[in-house]
Amino acid sequence: MKIADIRAHWISVPIPTTGQWRSDYGRLTTFDMCLVKVLTDDGRVGIGEAKAAVGASGSCASIVACIKHELRDKLIGQSIHDITRIWELSYNGTRDHYAESRGRTFPILANRGTTISAMSGIDLALWDLKGQDLGAPIVSLLGGACRDQMEAYASGGWADAAAIGEQLSGYVAQGFKGVKMRVGSMDDTVDYSVERVRAARDALGPAIKIMTDAHGTFSVPEAKRFCRELEDENLYWFEEPISTDNKIGTAELRQTTSIPIAAGESEFTRFDFIELLQHRALDVLQPDPAICGGITECMRIGALAAAYQLELAPHCWGSAISFMAGVNVAFASPSAVVVEFSLGGNPLMYDLCHEDPGVVDGYISAPTRPGLGLTLNDDFVKEYSKTL
Ligand SMILES: [Mg+2]
Repeated sequence: MKIADIRAHWISVPIPTTGQWRSDYGRLTTFDMCLVKVLTDDGRVGIGEAKAAVGASGSCASIVACIKHELRDKLIGQSIHDITRIWELSYNGTRDHYAESRGRTFPILANRGTTISAMSGIDLALWDLKGQDLGAPIVSLLGGACRDQMEAYASGGWADAAAIGEQLSGYVAQGFKGVKMRVGSMDDTVDYSVERVRAARDALGPAIKIMTDAHGTFSVPEAKRFCRELEDENLYWFEEPISTDNKIGTAELRQTTSIPIAAGESEFTRFDFIELLQHRALDVLQPDPAICGGITECMRIGALAAAYQLELAPHCWGSAISFMAGVNVAFASPSAVVVEFSLGGNPLMYDLCHEDPGVVDGYISAPTRPGLGLTLNDDFVKEYSKTL
């Protein structure tokens, strides 16, 4: 079964006003993604997602162009089962023959950034096709599920200090045992972020996991202060405390606190992650399969987490496609114990594909449907595809 064509579509869906939220990214009014379709010579279609931004929004024009004009022609005619080879062909460009014969990378200049996101979307679609062809869920192709069920944690938490307890309690009422709230620059001061987290802990009691996410917006001293103030609040992790550009600063913060430090949704490939690990910057690795280099690269990053005895928690903020990619990776990885589930208004989680995400009472079961287990809602895709 060979690749006959690769197509990319920028999907942009309005978020209903009642489901919109405001953070340091501003008020987001649309949910955006790049939908990738890999078509085979026998008429099958695999689907993938490539992200232009870690949040829900962002222009996907450059990713669509990269897939159409840089990656597509090189990959047509390749077997859909040779996923690692296709990854190497894409990553090494015209020097792929050196990579093949010498056994090390000869990367293209765009070895970080949206080209890797574009590769991620193709990689997801290939795994989807491979699973369809073999009649097996992707997790099975990755070695099988390490557990029958996993805890899904509710990712949201934008409300102010007066309302955050009620907002997060609403998630817990749906069965979630862990919740994530946003902090950082959107709060103006460190003190106000601290106040919101304390209000959350007061409302939820000691048993609920609380994760905090600063989207990389604190300075190093601000992040240290945040951790010092909340050292006794039993936070499950503190995510992206400072800019992803500052790996040494992240490591410096980690040395000053017992709160586990999480990051990785903005990183590309195993090479970014091993640098973070060599700096001793992380407790929790959060690769995004639609950004970091696909399921293929996510599993390599998962192996690093296992080798360093750290937690793997794939970033799953996106459509049902990247969510199921993260779920399959998490189930296949011994180091993963929780899965992110977005509680923001997200039409791409519920309406892009016909299947329900399958989170029940705060838990998700190991995937069983072939490939990603998703079928596209073609009418939805047609309605919300942007013309470029
Ligand atoms: Mg995050």
